[in-house]
Amino acid sequence: MPDRTAYLAANWKMHKTTEETEGFLAEFLPRVPDSPSPEIVICAPFTSLNTAIELCVQSRVRVAAQNMHEADEGAFTGEISAPMLQDLGVHAVILGHSERRQYFNETDEALARKVPVALGAGLEPILCVGENEGQRDGDETEAVLTRQVEADLAEVPDARLSEVVIAYEPIWAIGTGRTATPDQAQEALALIRSLVARRSEEAAAAVRILYGGSVKPDNAAELLSEADVDGALVGGASLDPGDFAAIVEAAG
Ligand code: PEP
Repeated sequence: MPDRTAYLAANWKMHKTTEETEGFLAEFLPRVPDSPSPEIVICAPFTSLNTAIELCVQSRVRVAAQNMHEADEGAFTGEISAPMLQDLGVHAVILGHSERRQYFNETDEALARKVPVALGAGLEPILCVGENEGQRDGDETEAVLTRQVEADLAEVPDARLSEVVIAYEPIWAIGTGRTATPDQAQEALALIRSLVARRSEEAAAAVRILYGGSVKPDNAAELLSEADVDGALVGGASLDPGDFAAIVEAAG
């Protein structure tokens, strides 16, 4: 891999109570290698953030949220803002996950506002992009990724583009057990890197781009060996401390 530190994020989605969070970390943290690579981020539900942060504070594992509102505060019942996450000690935030786009009407317009707000609050945005099955079959993958990457990063200054982590998550591979082939992942990630390069060659060389979609202990090493794959966003397999530790090992 070039000069980019590998990055592994666990997306727990709407799983794990505080007690389950404690149980996971009690098993997982002792298995975290001392080496600085890969960076490891646990994206916990809001209710487990505090517990996870307190338990990870002595380790090099960092904690992320799975969404945030773009306003700092206001009449937005049920929402959480960037300053609230920052106040808790949250390191990063997933933005634009396909489940939020699909079920909660997350739009590219909102993401264009959220990504710079996260950066401004000192949170590392993990921006998710990816096509659905119909779009892949209809040969629209390139158009979809181009539209999402251009729109969602439009308000990020060129000098800060490399601070965003981009996750390519083909929707047809999420939670389905159907993984993109290493070639398909590499092709999409190279496209995303070239889109960042249109804005800044320097940022394109430095930006971390992850693959996500049914990454498991037995396919992680092959996916992570591709030139442009800097890490993975892991859903289902990150719920089990042993499986996630094995994926971390594969990235080391
Ligand atoms: C995800 O939802 O971010 C994801 C990659 O899920 P899974 O690994 O379960 O496909």
